[in-house]
Amino acid sequence: MERITWDQYFMAQSHLLALRSTCTRLAVGATIVRDKRIIAGGYNGSIAGGAHCIDEGCYVIDNHCVRTIHAEMNAIIQCAKFGVPTEGAEIYVTHFPCLHCCKAIIQSGIRAVYYAQDYKNHPYALELFQQANVLVRHVPFDREVLSLLQK
Ligand SMILES: [Zn+2]
Ligand SMILES: [Zn+2]
Repeated sequence: MERITWDQYFMAQSHLLALRSTCTRLAVGATIVRDKRIIAGGYNGSIAGGAHCIDEGCYVIDNHCVRTIHAEMNAIIQCAKFGVPTEGAEIYVTHFPCLHCCKAIIQSGIRAVYYAQDYKNHPYALELFQQANVLVRHVPFDREVLSLLQK
């Protein structure tokens, strides 16, 4: 039996989460991992009970949709809500994190970021990650792993 790698396993989870996104501009997923265990997941969407971009359209200010909480933030907040430590954890994201998420990732003690796709990679985000000694690695998602499901 063929087994998928840990990287592809967690990356697949992030891509699955992105399918729950409610923003029509970009669907993002994030998975927080500790000791090879998934401890939290998030996608970009509205606050619980709020209006969704897919129903009401995006709420755009300065070319950003402000209606949604980013996937990385949602995953980190889930840890806060349920009291799960993020110190020393790792995060798998479908897209390179924005500056706000970059800072939240660093501040939460996450020490590695694996991203599948470049997305407006901000040089300051890279600088901050480097400064904080956070490992940043490009891990393209191999969609072929999903074909294993059909066996
Ligand atoms: Zn939106
Ligand atoms: Zn973000």
